[in-house]
Amino acid sequence: MTDKSNTSLQKQPLQGAGGARLAILGAGESGVGAAYLAQQQGYDVFVSDFGAIATHYKDQLQGWKIRFEENQHTEAEILAAVEVIKSPGIAHKAPIIKKIKEKGIPVISEIEFAGRYTDAKIIGITGSNGKTTTTSLTHFILKNAGLNVGLAGNIGRSFAYQVATEKYDCYVLELSSFMLDDMYRFKTDIAVLLNITPDHLDRYEYKMENYAASKFRVTQNQTANDVFIYCADDPETIKGMENRTINARQFPFTIEKKNLTGAYLENDNIVINTPQEHFEMSITELALQGKHNIYNSMASGIVAKVLELRNDTLRESLATFKNIEHRLESVGKISGISFINDSKATNVNSTWYALESMTSDVVLILGGVDKGNDYTMLKDLVKQKVKAIVCLGKDNQRIHDAFEDDVDIIINTSSAAEAAQTAYHLATKGDTVLLSPACASFDLFKNYEDRGNQFKAAVKEL
Ligand code: ADP
Repeated sequence: MTDKSNTSLQKQPLQGAGGARLAILGAGESGVGAAYLAQQQGYDVFVSDFGAIATHYKDQLQGWKIRFEENQHTEAEILAAVEVIKSPGIAHKAPIIKKIKEKGIPVISEIEFAGRYTDAKIIGITGSNGKTTTTSLTHFILKNAGLNVGLAGNIGRSFAYQVATEKYDCYVLELSSFMLDDMYRFKTDIAVLLNITPDHLDRYEYKMENYAASKFRVTQNQTANDVFIYCADDPETIKGMENRTINARQFPFTIEKKNLTGAYLENDNIVINTPQEHFEMSITELALQGKHNIYNSMASGIVAKVLELRNDTLRESLATFKNIEHRLESVGKISGISFINDSKATNVNSTWYALESMTSDVVLILGGVDKGNDYTMLKDLVKQKVKAIVCLGKDNQRIHDAFEDDVDIIINTSSAAEAAQTAYHLATKGDTVLLSPACASFDLFKNYEDRGNQFKAAVKEL
């Protein structure tokens, strides 16, 4: 493996360098973890959050004697830094970031920073949809195979905190495009790009190519010794690859093509080929069902076979993985009606896959904060499978406009309980009530977890 401790940007000192100022913007999981690691490395750390900091993070910072401020950015403190670590939630056009950049201070992500202090093998997973599922599944497979493997990125404790406190040989990291945007020298040994479909375009000047470029950063710095795993059925990925040089060894996964090095379907079997290895497994045995999860299982399976893990371990892991909350999560059956919580479906593409995997008539709960959605791609599936739409959002006009010709019943609701009750009344035995909103949640809920939890609680009350 390359020595990552020397891969810092030019402007800042190496290895902490005796008390140089490092400013950290945003005191969420990534910022607080980065603060801990930076202090351990000998930096003079200052954490600044323009909003209120959650109590448990304040307690941690205080416990570690790390200076911080909330509800403000004190420029004199921040602009004294040799380098700034920015939370992925802060947009590049935020005034403080502009000032930092004007002064020529490098701005990096927590992942970039933490990557300097570990030699662990890195498996980086990105894509518009399926990141958390595939990252968790890959981690599960590697752990079951006996590897000393950590799980980080958008999941659980931050990468930086784990680098500071654990000694993993290998990490599976979920990487969002916002994290990738501030990564420069970081290198993944195995990169997985699941798909590129429109999301967060407001942060990318509404240009798909900017968003795609951000996703492709997962391959930056890769060499011929590294591996790039991608979806050969995804047009944006293929387009992006045509315009770039990818140095890593490439392993596509596909449902539409056959007989290749990588993963494909043959008579309802997943087939995985690498130059050294061959693996087959029936899709009926997969723990995660639905077309999108065939892709996710293929991607994780290729990682396992590239690492030359045993076929029986891989098969057992793919068959026994328990899906994470809020992703096509079965909530139970009432009067023969199945309830599914897919609250994490916050864009149109993920709702498409959720609907695609439905095998009964559906009452679909849709809505929330519409990030400029184009619902066209849902129309065919809605016509085929959806008998009623229950809107769960403050402003549902765009959903009415999109589907009024396709579905007879479209009803507005404004709480999870009301939505669950309405859907229950509209459904009959054998149907599925699917919460897969295609929208963000913060008009009526704290976040998608809150939306999913309220829905699950409401279903229990029916
Ligand atoms: P992310 O972490 O990228 O947001 P998740 O794994 O949390 O993705 O899944 C979010 C939702 O996206 C799921 O509920 C599911 O409906 C959908 N989804 C999962 N995997 C895929 C995929 N490979 N392609 C498209 N949609 C997917």
